[in-house]
Amino acid sequence: MDHQPIYLDYNATTPCDPRVVEAMLPYFTQYFGNPASADHQYGWKAKDAADEAREQIAALIGAAAGQVIFTSGATESINLGLKSIAAKAGHIISCKTEHKAVLDTLAYLETKGLSVTYLDTNESGALSPAAVEAAVTPDTIAVAIMYANNETGVIHPVKEIGNITRQHNIAFFCDATQAVGKINVDVERDNIDLMAFSSHKLYGPKGVGALYTRQRRTLFAQQHGGSHEFGLRSGTLNMPGIVGFGKAAAICALEMQQEAQRLSALRDQLEQTMLQQLPGASVNGGHNRLPHVTNLLLPHPNAEQLLLSLSAHLALSRGSACSGLVQQPSHVLKAMGLNDEQVYRAVRFSLGRFTSGNDIDKAMMYITHAILHGEPAG
Ligand SMILES: *Cc1c(COP(=O)(O)O)cnc(C)c1O
Repeated sequence: MDHQPIYLDYNATTPCDPRVVEAMLPYFTQYFGNPASADHQYGWKAKDAADEAREQIAALIGAAAGQVIFTSGATESINLGLKSIAAKAGHIISCKTEHKAVLDTLAYLETKGLSVTYLDTNESGALSPAAVEAAVTPDTIAVAIMYANNETGVIHPVKEIGNITRQHNIAFFCDATQAVGKINVDVERDNIDLMAFSSHKLYGPKGVGALYTRQRRTLFAQQHGGSHEFGLRSGTLNMPGIVGFGKAAAICALEMQQEAQRLSALRDQLEQTMLQQLPGASVNGGHNRLPHVTNLLLPHPNAEQLLLSLSAHLALSRGSACSGLVQQPSHVLKAMGLNDEQVYRAVRFSLGRFTSGNDIDKAMMYITHAILHGEPAG
């Protein structure tokens, strides 16, 4: 990749901000201590750094530092959160458009006796709070609904759902991996009890994430040995990763509002131009979306081939990052009522911190040229 394609797949992962890398570097060499070493300065220095990162991350989501548990990423946080909830038998309400990390964990828990209702969304991907309320039964112990969808950017009515869970005295678990650091997320305002998120979606390094927990005593460790992280997640802390995650969170807290404005202007320009120039194109997902995301149905029979033909110039994806060898048609778009033929025409554009206006101009040129002339622009 000497000549790098324009990257428009920020929902799959984000590059580390150079300021994040700079903050991390001393923790590989100079400050390499183990934060669990209580008897010397190397340990104290690492402990202080972990504490600071915990504060920075807590501040971004309106939590207290003691409510943040470090993990290896959102998938682990989701497992820890949902398996803790399901330690009690009962019923959980979730949604068909959740990320596979949630759906697969719930499917596993169903084999252990948990019962799950998977709610539908409407054709815009929106979930109604009334549908959540109507699904509550005397056995319901929790609602597991994501903050914003990774494929469409659709934002769920999280505050309203949080209110419903409060009224019924059930737990609210939220996969906020795409929302934290992009839009304002506040666990108090939104009445969230457990929330999973990840460093590598907000310009921090991969392999580190967090679980917010309102009350630590509601959690049950899934990994034992050494009592790190309040005994809830044993194992020596990934210090460079945690320092980077903290720095990334601090940068987001300062910059995300302005960044959201800049990116939504670029996104809207992209969306409108594509809809105008490509007859038959349409948007998947309603109006309440993350500022940097648009999922478009393009007038091309096969998005996979289109993206492959443009791969020297553009890095885009059809939906969520492909996890296995075979990419299944998007379960999110299918849940929104699209048929297979439509799903194969969908392309997700996710912009980010390093996306320029020039990048968007070029991306529009490449896509429209490929579709209207049937070949990549020279
Ligand atoms: C990326 C993502 C995950 C998984 O995060 P990892 O840190 O890669 O495990 C979970 N949920 C959503 C919505 C995501 O976008």
